[in-house]
Amino acid sequence: MSDSAIKVKNLYRYFGALKAVDGISFEIPHGSVCGFVGANGAGKTTTMRILASLDYPTMGSVEICGKDVTAYPDEIRKLIGWMPDHFGNYDHMTVLEYLDFYARALGYSGDERRSRVRDVMEFTDLIPLSDRLSNKMSKGMTQRLGLARSLIHDPQVMIMDEPAAGLDPKARVELKHLIRVLAEEGKTVFISSHILSELGEMCDSLLFVNNGRIVHHGDADSLRVGSDSTGGFLYDIQLIGEAQSLSDWSVINPNVEFLETRKRGGRIRIDSNDPNVAADILAKMVRDGLRITEFHREERNLEDAFIDILGKIDEGNPSPIQATQTETTTHS
Ligand code: ATP
Repeated sequence: MSDSAIKVKNLYRYFGALKAVDGISFEIPHGSVCGFVGANGAGKTTTMRILASLDYPTMGSVEICGKDVTAYPDEIRKLIGWMPDHFGNYDHMTVLEYLDFYARALGYSGDERRSRVRDVMEFTDLIPLSDRLSNKMSKGMTQRLGLARSLIHDPQVMIMDEPAAGLDPKARVELKHLIRVLAEEGKTVFISSHILSELGEMCDSLLFVNNGRIVHHGDADSLRVGSDSTGGFLYDIQLIGEAQSLSDWSVINPNVEFLETRKRGGRIRIDSNDPNVAADILAKMVRDGLRITEFHREERNLEDAFIDILGKIDEGNPSPIQATQTETTTHS
C-alpha cells in the first residue's frame, strides 16, 4: 500500500487568468480525517473535484492510494467516494429504489447488490426511511442518503464537500459520528467545511487554504494552544480572596504578567510554553499563600487561529506556518 492515501504535488488549476489553485502540495495518511478550510472562493471545491477525477489540473499531480488521478480515472473512481455539496434526488424514487439504482449503475447485481444497499442503509440509519420518497426528506436525511450513495462501492477514500452545510445541530452530530466511524474502519476522509469548531473536533489534521495556496497544515490542538501576539500563553486563574493579591504577586515574580481582573480572579500571561514553568508558577503561588481554586490555560478558538494566520499573510509573511505537518497523528 502506498504511504499516503492522498498525495498532492504542486497542483495548479487556472481558469483563464484566475488562479483557483495556485501550487499546493500536501499528503494525508491512510485512515485519518483531514479538514479542508478556506473562505469562499479559496479553491476548495476545485481541488476536491480534481481529487475526485472530475477535473484536470493545469499542472501538478494527485495520487490516491498511489494511483495518479489523471492517468487512471476509472480506477480512482473505484477508490474514492465523492460527496458533492449539492446532489440531485429523483422525485419519483424511494430511498431504497434510489440506492438500488446506484448500486446497479455501479455494476452490482443479485445478492451482492442487495447486501451492499442494506449495509449502507444500516450504516446511515436509513432503514426506517426505505419507503420515503427521496425528495420528501429533511436536509439531514438527504445528506445521509448522499453519504450512503457515495459508500455503496466501499471506497477507501471519502471526499466530502461541505457535507455539514445547512444541517441542524443534531444532524451535524450524527454526521460527525459517521465520519469518525468511517475513519475507525480505516477509510481516509477529506472534508471541507466552513464550520471550523466542528472540523476541529472530528479531524486529525486541518488544511487551511487561501487564494489557492495552503497557509497551514497541522493538527487542531496545536492551533488551539496558540500563543498571543507577544508569544506568551494566557491563563485564567480563580482564587479565594482579592484579585489584587494575584496582581501584586505577579509584579514581583518573573515570567508572569497580570493582564486583567476577572470574576473571582484574573488573567495572566506566562512567557513560556513549557508545562514545567506553569507548574512551578502554580506551586509558588500556593507556597506564597495565594488560595488558588482554578488554574486554566486558555485555548484559542479555531476561527481566531485561522484569522490570525490570514492576518499574518496580509502583513506580508507568505507562509507563517507553512505545511508543518503532512503526516499527522493517527486516529484514535
Ligand atoms: P466556496 O467555499 O464558496 O465553495 P471554494 O473554496 O470551494 O469556495 P472554488 O469553488 O474552488 O472555491 O472556486 C475557486 C475560484 O475559482 C473562484 O474564484 C471560482 O469563481 C473560480 N472557479 C471555479 N470553477 C470555475 C470554472 N469552472 N470556471 C471559472 N472559474 C471557476
